[in-house]
Amino acid sequence: MTDLAAPPTDATSDARPHVLRCVNPADGSQVAEYPVAGEDAVRAAVARARAAAPAWEALGPDGRERCLLRWAGYLVEHADELCDLVHAENGKPRDDAYLELVLALELIRWAAKNAGRELRPRRVRPGPLMANFAAHVEYRPLGVVGVIGPWNYPIYTPTGSGAFALAAGNTIVFKPSEFTTAIGVYWASAFAAANPELPDGVFGVVTGYGDTGAALCRADVDKIAFTGSTATGKKIMATCAEKLTPVLLECGGKDAFVVAEDADVQAAAQAAAWGGVGNSGQTCVGVERVYVVESVRDRFLSALRKELSGVRGSASADAAYGPMTMPSQVDVVRRHVADALEHGGTAVIGGLDSIRPPYIDPVVLVDTDESSLAVQEETFGPTLTVRTVRDVDEAVALANGTRYGLASTVFSREHGLEIARRLRAGATSVNAALGFAAIPALPFGGVGESGVGRIHGAEGLREFVRPHAIARQRFAIPGPSLSGFDRPAAMMRVVKKLMAKRHSA
Ligand code: NAD
Repeated sequence: MTDLAAPPTDATSDARPHVLRCVNPADGSQVAEYPVAGEDAVRAAVARARAAAPAWEALGPDGRERCLLRWAGYLVEHADELCDLVHAENGKPRDDAYLELVLALELIRWAAKNAGRELRPRRVRPGPLMANFAAHVEYRPLGVVGVIGPWNYPIYTPTGSGAFALAAGNTIVFKPSEFTTAIGVYWASAFAAANPELPDGVFGVVTGYGDTGAALCRADVDKIAFTGSTATGKKIMATCAEKLTPVLLECGGKDAFVVAEDADVQAAAQAAAWGGVGNSGQTCVGVERVYVVESVRDRFLSALRKELSGVRGSASADAAYGPMTMPSQVDVVRRHVADALEHGGTAVIGGLDSIRPPYIDPVVLVDTDESSLAVQEETFGPTLTVRTVRDVDEAVALANGTRYGLASTVFSREHGLEIARRLRAGATSVNAALGFAAIPALPFGGVGESGVGRIHGAEGLREFVRPHAIARQRFAIPGPSLSGFDRPAAMMRVVKKLMAKRHSA
């Protein structure tokens, strides 16, 4: 990993040049260094993207499909190099890095292959009053989209917005997380390496901290597609409000997992263990709260213990999971576990001793008060709360009881869909963990404080276009018209009669 890691932006014009050091979260060793892009460098990157936009749009869906598929091909060809980098900078084991790449590749392919069909012009009926018109909707790219990403899935998450924005005909400027900058630069540079004939600026990247992201929000982009915490999402919405720049916000979650009386308890325990603890719990749609019906509670807990026995985080490339990527998140997890223990919770697996930075061993907290931090706030660590409920009705009420609404899981042999429909969440996986996240055609996003808008699927493509309504008069109706100053009173009488007939109850 080498040429691709060359600094992509020039920070020398900024009043406050800084350097961003990318480190390995397992041992603190340096992975790479990048300049911190200030306001000027960000504006310059947006200007390059703006200049490249007409050429990219002119390629049309077929031309863009070819470029996107070449990018995917390049990523597959260089998968070992990329996964080594993900392991080094994000900390996740190599196989997990590869699986993340698999999800991203499928997203790129879906967006590339479906944009033409999903965004093709659409005829609509003009209605009887306008029968002499032809009416249709065309979908035009927005222009330049600013993509701001997190560190937990540093390839998958920006692909969910970036690849869809590109497929829809926009150019993009990407600001990766300060914790996974080298991965972000690699991801963007791979697009350029796969498509050397394209003008500079189709897929730009700016590196830096939150200030660089804020500068991107102010830099006259046509939309910001953000993935990250709810707290930052709110700041971004406020910044973008200044110019009414539209926002797509993919924020945090506190996902619930419902285990009904008729669940396959063994499968539920396996899914809760992996969905809650995998990636060291640093998954936006990870399982955080389990609601289990009392008749199956003991069996569920005993199966969960078995699933998690021997599961530990470590630096090894084939560990169950790696270190906490962002050091400050360890304190959040510690605070939540302590608060749960103070609020009636019992740790049946692990406890405060499980926190040995940069690793956290699995922690399962039982019957913690519903008002505690561990139940109400995103923990983002390898912890689960498990609450016993009388029945599914109580589980649904509690599951819907936080300010978040990203995703959810239901285990029930007979009633999975019914229960899923009652959950206030953007997505639900029935009888498996996180299924929706691996289906590129399904929209992905949250309700409440989990976000605004959708990535993936047709809905994800539509986030990056503006509908343009076109009404074409096919022939003029002879005589006076409703839309003219010579409109006779008799004509209005006819219209009123028609309306009374058409809309009579
Ligand atoms: P974060 O909010 O701290 O940072 C995300 C990005 O925003 C980073 O690139 C950061 O530099 C940038 N940023 C920070 N302040 C900014 C500002 N004022 N203006 C513009 N940009 C700014 O989030 P994180 O810690 O990187 O990621 C973890 C969070 O992301 C968790 O809450 C997780 O649930 C969420 N997440 C959500 C999804 C989803 O699809 N809903 C996916 C992955 C992660």
